[in-house]
Amino acid sequence: LIVPSWNEFAEMIQKIYDECQSIKDGETAAYIPQLAQQDPNKWGLAICTVDGQRVSFGDAKLPFCFQSISKAFNYAILASEIGTDKVHSYVGQEPSGRFFNEICLDKNNKPHNPMVNSGAIVVTSLIKQESHVSDRFNYVLDQYKKLAAGEYVGFNNAVFLSERDIADRNCALAYFMKELKCFPETNHSIRDTLDFYFQLCSLETNCESLSVMAATLANGGVCPLTSEKCVANRACRDVLSLMYSCGMYDYSGQFAFHVGLPAKSGVSGALMVVIPNLMGICMWSPPLDAMGNSVRGVEFCKKMVEKFKFHNYDTL
Ligand code: GLU
Repeated sequence: LIVPSWNEFAEMIQKIYDECQSIKDGETAAYIPQLAQQDPNKWGLAICTVDGQRVSFGDAKLPFCFQSISKAFNYAILASEIGTDKVHSYVGQEPSGRFFNEICLDKNNKPHNPMVNSGAIVVTSLIKQESHVSDRFNYVLDQYKKLAAGEYVGFNNAVFLSERDIADRNCALAYFMKELKCFPETNHSIRDTLDFYFQLCSLETNCESLSVMAATLANGGVCPLTSEKCVANRACRDVLSLMYSCGMYDYSGQFAFHVGLPAKSGVSGALMVVIPNLMGICMWSPPLDAMGNSVRGVEFCKKMVEKFKFHNYDTL
């Protein structure tokens, strides 16, 4: 067993989970009603190890949307399919130092990285380009389910409709990128590309399922519960590198410094952390800090690393 004294480990995790429950800071995302109405008291946590040991606490079975966490999986799925080099002929690997949805590109007129909206929209446009929109959606949904060992991955149509309704910024960003020839030459319209991007933001899951998806990344792309290969080795390495440098909005550098683990957060209050060769962790608590990360989630990670020395450089 990768974690031999599992019960003891789980008890220590629960203690940190309980400590974080009392945190009352942060605001739930306000830009769409479905996120604004999320209950700020909800707090869920789930862990799945690379050998399939599992534990969860609190609201670990309640659904939430992937939102920006989809950016990490969409990239991993695309890079597995067409190869990292091909993907990065369209998008860079550098933190942007700008807001996640800013209308700006790097000096080559490419999106800075796949974790900001510009890069994520281009990545989305590259997935199964030759297929019909319905098949593209089903393809990605199937890949998500595979990563989650068939556990819960759903679609929240109300979130999708809201996202599409307030799409001015993403629309402007997409047309700006169209002008600068950021997209592949296909017959998909900007509208179809954005719809697909919003649909993937609107996929939903829960802490338990997302911890399995994170564990699949921790396990080099092989799902620990099914032993199925879901992400190519190189794509797995690359998505973790990008999560490490760009996964936590404008807190990414600080998170890498303090916590030292690849992670990706989303405006729903979800936060996924990968401890390579060990486990996947998923947290969900809707109140966000000024950067857009779950307040309880970030605090949990800091306390956990203090306790368990999981930081990338703690072994030195
Ligand atoms: N749907 C959001 C957008 O594209 C993503 C928000 C996020 O989780 O960062 O603006």
